[in-house]
Amino acid sequence: MKKTFFSLLMALVAMCATAQGVGDAFYIYRNDGQFNAFFRDEVDSIAYSYYDTDSVYYNDIVTQVIYTPDSIYSIPLAAIDSVSFVQPETILRPNVVMMEQVGMSDYLKSVDGMCLFFDTSIPNSLTPKVGDILFSTDFDNPLFNEGFVGKVIDTKKSTQYLQVCCDSVYDLTDIFVQLISIEKIKDDNNNPSNSNARRISGEWTSSRNPVNFNLGFSRHLSDGEVSLSGAVEGTYIATVAYKITLKEQYVNLKLHHDWQYNAHLKFKSNKDFGTLEGNVNSLPAIRFPAVAPVFKFQIAGCPFIKGEGNLELDFSLNSPVHSYLGEVTYHNGHFRGSNKRMPVSGNNNPSFDTAFSLNGSVQTGYMVDFWLGTINAIGSYLRTGLDFYIGPKMTGDFTMKIGTGNPINYYSMFKDSKFGLSLLTVDYEFFGEAAFAGHKFPRAMFCNGTFQTPLYHEWYIMPEFSDLNIKKDVQNLSATISTTPTRDILFPLSVGLGLYDKSGSLLDKRFQSKKYKRENEGYKIQQTFSSLERNTEYTARPLIKILDGEVPALPTEKFKLDDTSCPDSNHPHWIDLGLPSGTQWRCCNEGASTPEAYGGYYAFGQVSSAPSSDQIKELVNHCSYQWTTQNGVKGGKFTGPNGGTVFLPAAGGRWDGELFNVGTGGDYWSSTPYDEYGAYYLYFGSGYAGWDYWDYFGRFDEESVRPVR
Ligand SMILES: [Zn+2]
Repeated sequence: MKKTFFSLLMALVAMCATAQGVGDAFYIYRNDGQFNAFFRDEVDSIAYSYYDTDSVYYNDIVTQVIYTPDSIYSIPLAAIDSVSFVQPETILRPNVVMMEQVGMSDYLKSVDGMCLFFDTSIPNSLTPKVGDILFSTDFDNPLFNEGFVGKVIDTKKSTQYLQVCCDSVYDLTDIFVQLISIEKIKDDNNNPSNSNARRISGEWTSSRNPVNFNLGFSRHLSDGEVSLSGAVEGTYIATVAYKITLKEQYVNLKLHHDWQYNAHLKFKSNKDFGTLEGNVNSLPAIRFPAVAPVFKFQIAGCPFIKGEGNLELDFSLNSPVHSYLGEVTYHNGHFRGSNKRMPVSGNNNPSFDTAFSLNGSVQTGYMVDFWLGTINAIGSYLRTGLDFYIGPKMTGDFTMKIGTGNPINYYSMFKDSKFGLSLLTVDYEFFGEAAFAGHKFPRAMFCNGTFQTPLYHEWYIMPEFSDLNIKKDVQNLSATISTTPTRDILFPLSVGLGLYDKSGSLLDKRFQSKKYKRENEGYKIQQTFSSLERNTEYTARPLIKILDGEVPALPTEKFKLDDTSCPDSNHPHWIDLGLPSGTQWRCCNEGASTPEAYGGYYAFGQVSSAPSSDQIKELVNHCSYQWTTQNGVKGGKFTGPNGGTVFLPAAGGRWDGELFNVGTGGDYWSSTPYDEYGAYYLYFGSGYAGWDYWDYFGRFDEESVRPVR
């Protein structure tokens, strides 16, 4: 075994020195049913290992390791029968007749299925005999579907023609005693001069187009239109190694392919249109080997679009390069396959631009189909396929109708609808099928999956909004409302604020001049609503313009310009009126548990939390005063600079044990004495409010107290 290993290394060294008489490839024949063939210039290095293919260590070299740019091959030395640097001879069975080569085709007049009709002038030496295998490689001959292979079972001569009927040939070993080779099929979009397959043996001429699919695609639908334009450009390198002998049938396809595409999609549709496929672009098939082309490698593709619902879409995309390595192996009736993503150097960022009005779902892409198999003339002996669905995946389920029903619910229904877009999605399916001697094995799907990139991004249909901030300006009867939208949304939307009355009717709406699309851009919604009325309950909420409608969003916030400023009914509260001193006034009188209740009547100094004279002056000088009725109780309302209010009931006062002015005016003690006998107090009534002081026996007068802090 060691000997094989060293002879391989030595031979490689020798080959580098003198390339004469040696092929571009070498072949490793194995006794374990496997077969390896390598192009010399693709082998980065050859090494040996003390570990076997199961990673078990030995004291001796047990494994040959061959490194190529794509893969690492570990071959047990014990499995290596021999290594050859010479292109193995292709050996046809002696009864195979190449029809063009011998001139038989010149006499062919017509074809009916597996029966051929020759001119009666065909010489005896060219007349087919029962048991012959007739093989035509004239793939352009209109008489054949795709060349011809058949085993002669019957010949009949009449005055008009020679009829030769054949059986189908299902097995390559009916044609070949030995067919061993490695082929490289390379197509380079950017360099058409490279577009010929590299041949190891035989002659090969072919003129093929670069791999470039134009997406030009347009359909008129009964109630809409869909179009897709763009191009898919790519390069691929396919390497096919095969070993067909009487004992063994082995075919391996390696496909390294890079793709890039740009597309511009336009949809306008009002109903499901299912799947539309564009024209299939097929590149001319590559057939090999040249001596008796039985294999065919083909590549084809078409754009596809799936859509449903009401949607309009305008989407442009330039993708980065996708690079993949797929491998399929067929060996004596069994398939196996793998697919992996290869690293790509350079710019890997897609660019895209989109404008949607979407009410449905849409998926689009480009399907590329590679396949390797035997030519059609040989039954359905072998076929392996690699299908790639390349393209942006845009899926969503947004069946939204604006303008009917209760619009309030739409936001809740759709605010969490997300839209995911993966610009680099590649779905792949590898499959194989085979048939022997008329027996067809079921199609085997041995590998499928999806490559999704980190560039996957999610968008929402609608933004979310922060709690509303309401700044009331009671003096000017206006309110400035602000909120901040969050989330990245799919298509830019006009957003604003709506003002509703108590019954939920929209009173006023204001939209921002700039549309919202992404968070983290410092976007803020702020609108001022003016000409508001006092003592009226308003509800503010964000608004979203979508399609032709306006969707009221959440959260909502109720406010009143003249409300009591009490946050709830759990009185008492301390009310911030926005006064310069920072003084807070209580919402209820001393001894009262609601703002309207009169509470107790107290002599001066009896309640320590009473305001100072300065605090009373501040209330009168910095607040607007209004004589009003609150919950059926008359009183004075003081509205501070910040819109906060306190209501003081007109509780009157008690003098000499008797109540005066109840319901017509209020007298509230300060904590500040005026002189030995008197003290300051607050008074108000219909149309007036002020401060003054009692003197003489005034301190014994009993008045209301409104505490401060
Ligand atoms: Zn309160």
